[in-house]
Amino acid sequence: DIPVICIDGPTASGKGTLATAVAERLGYHVLDSGVLYRLVGLAAERQGIPTDAASLTQPAVAERLGQLAATLPVRFDAGRVWLDGEDVSDAVRTESAGMAASRVSALPPVRQALLDLQRRFRALPGLVADGRDMGTVIFPDAALKVFLTASAEQRANRRHKQLISKGIPARIEDLLADLKARDARDMSRQDAPLKPAEDALPLDNSAQSIEESVQQVLAWWQA
Ligand code: C5P
Repeated sequence: DIPVICIDGPTASGKGTLATAVAERLGYHVLDSGVLYRLVGLAAERQGIPTDAASLTQPAVAERLGQLAATLPVRFDAGRVWLDGEDVSDAVRTESAGMAASRVSALPPVRQALLDLQRRFRALPGLVADGRDMGTVIFPDAALKVFLTASAEQRANRRHKQLISKGIPARIEDLLADLKARDARDMSRQDAPLKPAEDALPLDNSAQSIEESVQQVLAWWQA
């Protein structure tokens, strides 16, 4: 049985950083499931499929996006993400790609299409998966499930620092509004809403260093 550690939680809670660090210590693979939804949003944009809220209520659009997700021409290679031969590693990380991801991720056909793709990341010696529904839907049998949180202000501040360090201009107020909108959508959608799995261990990293969070997860894993 291939071990899986799930790290779920809201936007910008530090799941990616924590998952990557834990995977490194254990020599495990990583699944950043958010990237898959971001790729669907990006691929839709490239193909001219609308992802605004009004368009997404049309069954034909939802259907097309589901098909797109099922046939996503994606390749992960040496820490880069390729979509149809184009290196989109930076493009998927933008705020607009995140918002598009959040909108398309509410569509059941899209979530359904990405089920198998996500489960195929489970490989020896093990996997650390981060997202919103890793522990509830994708890997319900995972041996360790962590639900990572931090205050909205703390998360907006961290994202701001991240963007500024990359030379991307951003305003904290805008980031805070965006992540609250995303939290609300993630928690209220019908299909796989963001909520801790019943057997998830809560971890609030608001006042923790990354290393402290890593040590906590490793301690749980070894317990
Ligand atoms: O984690 P990240 O910000 O990259 O995710 C982008 C968006 O994709 C989230 O706002 C969320 O709506 C969606 N998502 C999801 N299920 C996941 C991962 C991400 O619905 N497992």
